[in-house]
Amino acid sequence: MLSADFSQLRYDVQRCAEAGAEILHIDVMDGHFVPNITIGPLVVKALRPHSQLIFDCHLMISNPDAYIGAFADAGAQWISVHAEACTHLHRTLQNIRSRGCKAGVVCNPATPIEFATAAAEYADFVLLMSVNPGFGGQEFIPSFYRRCAELRSWLDTHGCEHVQIEVDGGVKPGNAEQIVRAGANILVSGNALFSGDLEANTKALRAAAEAGRTATA
Ligand code: ZN
Repeated sequence: MLSADFSQLRYDVQRCAEAGAEILHIDVMDGHFVPNITIGPLVVKALRPHSQLIFDCHLMISNPDAYIGAFADAGAQWISVHAEACTHLHRTLQNIRSRGCKAGVVCNPATPIEFATAAAEYADFVLLMSVNPGFGGQEFIPSFYRRCAELRSWLDTHGCEHVQIEVDGGVKPGNAEQIVRAGANILVSGNALFSGDLEANTKALRAAAEAGRTATA
């Protein structure tokens, strides 16, 4: 959503659904945990009646525990929190699940993936950042591939096959196949979809992801 036109969010969200998106990834920034400010639960609540998409709220905020209830009440179905923002990560993930939402743990590019593996039994998905969070339109950091493959391997060999890996930052049709080959199965893309023809870009991204899935099947 970060790359949408914020003066007409409802319209752009509907365009994403028509173009073939399945999830609306909502980047929540507080100007404290990350150097930018976006939106909060009021906007999520306002959009909720206008979309059937899964609402995936990525909380780039300090003290996320204080806001999980507000986002769940606003209509979030998935909520992810940054490992470094949580003093008691397990408790925070349990708090998200207790609200009926899927719980995700987020690792920045420099966060050891052990933060995610330590919390895997309490998580439904791990969001691996492929840029440093705060702004859209950044270049993909290639160390993602190694980190994603290591994480996928760990999850698959420790009884956590069901935990999905989401990737966020710099994802585009040109790298989606390799990203999926590395083990990711939820792709977040903003700039690459909204630059030009949204529907054609979404189709191209999906085709590249499908190619990666076929290769790893
Ligand atoms: Zn995000």
